[in-house]
Amino acid sequence: APHPVALETSELTVAYGSFLAVRGVSLSVRRNSIHSIIGPNGAGKTTLFHALTGRVRPSAGSIRLDDKDISHTRDDDRVRLGIARSFQVTSLFPNLSVQENLRLASQGRTPWQALAPWRSINHNKEAMATAGEVMERLSLTQVAGRAAGELSHGQQRRLEVGMALAARPRVILMDEPTSGMGVDDIEAMKELIRSLAADHTVIFVEHNMGIVMNISDTVTVMRAGQKLVEGTPAEIRDDPEVRRAYLGNM
Ligand code: ATP
Repeated sequence: APHPVALETSELTVAYGSFLAVRGVSLSVRRNSIHSIIGPNGAGKTTLFHALTGRVRPSAGSIRLDDKDISHTRDDDRVRLGIARSFQVTSLFPNLSVQENLRLASQGRTPWQALAPWRSINHNKEAMATAGEVMERLSLTQVAGRAAGELSHGQQRRLEVGMALAARPRVILMDEPTSGMGVDDIEAMKELIRSLAADHTVIFVEHNMGIVMNISDTVTVMRAGQKLVEGTPAEIRDDPEVRRAYLGNM
């Protein structure tokens, strides 16, 4: 039987002033699937993510997490309910250690709320255990005490994913997880995303078509704020509309 739906949007619309960046997008993401969102620059992918995390409010439509309507739930409450985001723009505290970063993230705070982090690092047992598990999973245990700012690029990108994982989400959103990476780091990220899907639902925005076609169960193509097509990688690859939108660059 198909997995139940983990996250669903219905006719979701987001306006910036009078400009509609996302227009009536309905998505249905199955539990434990890898669902990618692609589309040309300005298609509305980032805005859709902002709406899912609660950073922007929908002007119409709704968002459901499992069976709960979270359309008007605050961003930090959504993290507690099980949606966490791994940022493309770095959300790490460069002067804090890997372990300290993860202990902070385990408190389920959004990065822009974690002001004065050195005063609020969680010392409880649970936060320590979570940081330990996440470091183990991301092969960061050896660098637990190292300042985040001193890690290699690939390690920093894994730690960004770790920051999301430390909030113990069921649904994890990833912004261009392979951007700026070399071949080896891309390969490691691909394996990591695959392994995450064993116990999470993964939604990611990505420009690298290789990784999208390789690991996605479902691909949603956006253009000009709307959903253009959705399907398996094979269906997307053969779609004439998609080929036109990408000028044959697939
Ligand atoms: P990219 O691949 O370049 O990241 P995207 O698909 O993520 O693009 P968005 O960043 O969501 O696209 O932008 C969608 C549209 O909304 C664009 O036309 C953009 O100029 C516009 N936009 C984004 N943020 C704002 C804002 N804060 N105010 C007004 N317009 C915005």
